[in-house]
Amino acid sequence: CGIVACRGRVQAAEFLAGALSRLEYRGYDSAGIAVTGTGPEGLTVVRAVGRVASLQERLAVLPPPAGSCLGIGHTRWATHGSVSESNAHPHRDCSGAIAVVHNGIIDNADELVAELRGRGHLFTSDVDSEVVAHLVEEHFAGTGSLAAATLAATRRLRGTWALAVTAGNSRDVVLASHRSPLVVGSGPDGHVAASDVTALLGTVAAVSVLQDGDVVVLGDTVTWLDADGAEVPPRESVRLGWA
Ligand code: GLU
Repeated sequence: CGIVACRGRVQAAEFLAGALSRLEYRGYDSAGIAVTGTGPEGLTVVRAVGRVASLQERLAVLPPPAGSCLGIGHTRWATHGSVSESNAHPHRDCSGAIAVVHNGIIDNADELVAELRGRGHLFTSDVDSEVVAHLVEEHFAGTGSLAAATLAATRRLRGTWALAVTAGNSRDVVLASHRSPLVVGSGPDGHVAASDVTALLGTVAAVSVLQDGDVVVLGDTVTWLDADGAEVPPRESVRLGWA
């Protein structure tokens, strides 16, 4: 339903929860965030069924260690699997070091789950989106590049997706889009992305919209890749009226 991401100079957990609350008007059943640079796998995931306020309460009790400026967040509108904490996003791979949020529907999830189970992957949810984390895991092990791994994973998918992917101790968030919206912008707080500009209210003065097949890496700088993984100029940015 809703995606937010940041690679910034602000407390990621606080920014992500605030941005998710600006997407509440869209409707959702659960919410979650992953921030990197913390926890045993270099990644802390906090999820809650219900309102973003429930997630915020959980963050207040279990705050991810301060100092993380990189993370991804999601509000879920379930299409596959019941509404439960284990089905809420972000979803992780077997190692727990890769986190993925997904908007849309993966049409060939059942066959990908069967294939990945055959190679020893264990699944912890009933959600189509979890296959993406496991596919990224396999390709990340081979390439060491989160962008290349995300691109390789998307080549296996059929359906619709907006994705934000990160990994423990990674310095990047990777975004990919296919028939599901994502926008990217940069402001004083760093590089940010969302499925809807409303989430970024007041944080950036302009955004660029991903087109089908685009992959964007939020790192020290923002890098745009085409569907073949070649670096391309950024899409033209659109000024936002509120700035
Ligand atoms: N298909 C995914 C799920 O059921 C994503 C739904 C969404 O776009 O929120 O969790």
